[in-house]
Amino acid sequence: LVRALNVSKSFHGNEVLKGIDLDVHRGEVVCLLGPSGSGKTTFLRCINQLESIDGGRIWVDGDLVGYREVKGHLHHLNDKEIATQRRDIGMVFQRFNLFPHKTALENVIEAPLIVRGVARKEAQERGRRLLAQVGLADKPDAYPGQLSGGQQQRVAIARALAMDPKLMLFDEPTSALDPELVGEVLRVMRELADAGMTMIVVTHEMGFARDVADQVVFMDGGVVVEEGKPTEVLGNPQHERTRSFLRRMR
Ligand code: ATP
Repeated sequence: LVRALNVSKSFHGNEVLKGIDLDVHRGEVVCLLGPSGSGKTTFLRCINQLESIDGGRIWVDGDLVGYREVKGHLHHLNDKEIATQRRDIGMVFQRFNLFPHKTALENVIEAPLIVRGVARKEAQERGRRLLAQVGLADKPDAYPGQLSGGQQQRVAIARALAMDPKLMLFDEPTSALDPELVGEVLRVMRELADAGMTMIVVTHEMGFARDVADQVVFMDGGVVVEEGKPTEVLGNPQHERTRSFLRRMR
């Protein structure tokens, strides 16, 4: 579903991604691990075109991300085409980014209403089902300020799901949460994985990576150092950089 080939990205001459390759099959969960600054967030943002790439190619579901290829030449997509590509990708950030003046349900139905033009009643019914799916059946009318961080993050997940994404990107979804709230968010993510959602998850939650990931990718310094099944990368890492990172995570 996702293929990245030799993806590179610099900020002001600072090369943050130095040729990243990644293949994610439909229904797979890939966990991206690595020290702070290794480029994990930047890579996710490139997949979703929140950043443009300087080199290489990314495809999502067969479509070249950000470009159209005409007779061997690449042409940038216009804003409308980028928005269309982005619609199929759900993203959940470290900070929940909910609209503070909208209720949980209004947050969830915003995009279907505005972007998809779904009728309000239909969007609300679907929104309630999605809130129930993330364990918030009783909170449609709550405002973000009345919800815990874990509940807000679950609303954010429901909001991303409301657009029926093919792919879900998670950028350290639990790292801003109090420890006792981490489990409820991971549980929702795990159910999503079990339901067959294709997911790329930047996380420091080793238990989640071990139990849920089909593939673990360890990044450091803008390159993929090591990748494989959790039992391989976490259980029997081949590179010293992976080993020392894992020692620090324990
Ligand atoms: P973390 O776990 O801390 O989020 P990360 O592995 O996700 O780390 P990135 O956030 O991708 O790493 O950052 C990689 C490098 O790129 C860092 O050195 C960061 O300072 C730099 N960087 C990221 N975004 C920008 C930007 N918009 N402008 C300039 N530099 C940036």
